[in-house]
Amino acid sequence: MNEPVLVINCGSSSIKYALVPATADQPRLTGLAERLGSDDARLKGVDSRGEVFTRSLGNAGHVQALEAILEGLEGRRPGAVGHRIVHGGERFTRATLIDDDVVAAIEQTAALAPLHNPANLQGVAATRALFPELPQVAVFDTAFHQSLPPRAYRYALPEALYRDHAIRRYGFHGTSHAYVSGRANALTGRTGGWLTAHLGNGCSTAAVWEGQSLDTSMGITPLEGLVMGTRSGDVDPGLHAHLSRQLGWSIEEIDRVLNHESGLLGLSGLTNDMRELEAAADEGHAGAMLAIEVFCYRIAKSLAALSCALPRLDGIVFTGGIGENSPRVREQVVALLPHFGLALDPEANRASLRGREGRIDTRTPNRPALWVIPTDEEGRIADETRQLLGETLR
Ligand code: AMP
Repeated sequence: MNEPVLVINCGSSSIKYALVPATADQPRLTGLAERLGSDDARLKGVDSRGEVFTRSLGNAGHVQALEAILEGLEGRRPGAVGHRIVHGGERFTRATLIDDDVVAAIEQTAALAPLHNPANLQGVAATRALFPELPQVAVFDTAFHQSLPPRAYRYALPEALYRDHAIRRYGFHGTSHAYVSGRANALTGRTGGWLTAHLGNGCSTAAVWEGQSLDTSMGITPLEGLVMGTRSGDVDPGLHAHLSRQLGWSIEEIDRVLNHESGLLGLSGLTNDMRELEAAADEGHAGAMLAIEVFCYRIAKSLAALSCALPRLDGIVFTGGIGENSPRVREQVVALLPHFGLALDPEANRASLRGREGRIDTRTPNRPALWVIPTDEEGRIADETRQLLGETLR
């Protein structure tokens, strides 16, 4: 298929899109329609000359926003649509061509991702209505982690909760971990064992061996694991009962605090933005310093734990807004893992800039490598869409 793939990431009031061409020499058109359903819906995007544009969409809903997105594609017509779907449960282990049965199965999985899957499906319904002739493919955030063995995905809970209610660890950010570990294999010419750290507003780690995810830090929801922008990551599972009994908090209140008021924001009392935290820490803000310290310690602890999943460690890959842009976080994480025999090159670490792949270790033989690899979830979704259609049409 030589036409571009339209990649859609649909939220309840926003649609992020990218028109990904078949070859890298053509420009990628990207943008975001936001505040859908309110009076000041708008579309922001980047055209083929790299110029940013903003258009008011009135009180557009998802279908009108997609029509506006299509108009902004400068006459380019996609050959297929690739949808990011957050939760595929145990049924979806790879990208899947969307039909009515697949939509019904994604709806059934909504209990596991009540905020995300219904919103993702709004995008599917709108694009199917607008482009009935185009193949539509679902690419799941959880699919890459379906290769986890039971020892990594089972919680130590009564078996019936797994059997009857699908309660297990699923993992997220699969598209990103798949992309950066695949790039690491391509860049080094060997299919090795990688620890990947996706550090953005949401954060997770994964252990990838020969292209297969063997363990990851997120669980049944994206709250488990690392400290994130506003999410707590791991807490004692007894905390919920404690907060309920001691403070009289409802489950909704606890959920809100752990998801939206915790993490870097909660620890620092300042912000969830790592750039602002680094600036505040430089000026001696105690909360900012503590937030960065806990953040880095928990990443290192997670990487050390996940290394148990790998027969051999070939290297660590940093990605996501923080992983790609914060030499300080990378340095602090590496310093907490002396037993891995890592050899960070401080100059290369400081020089590595957003949008560029780079190796940041001293390239000492027999030491695990350290890489910064900018993630490309949209590119990966487009690739998986193309690959699936190539197989289906063959
Ligand atoms: P993402 O969700 O991947 O877009 O990442 C968002 C996070 O990346 C926010 O915490 C940003 O503060 C952080 N970030 C972006 N640029 C930088 C930078 N130059 N230095 C440190 N953190 C950054």
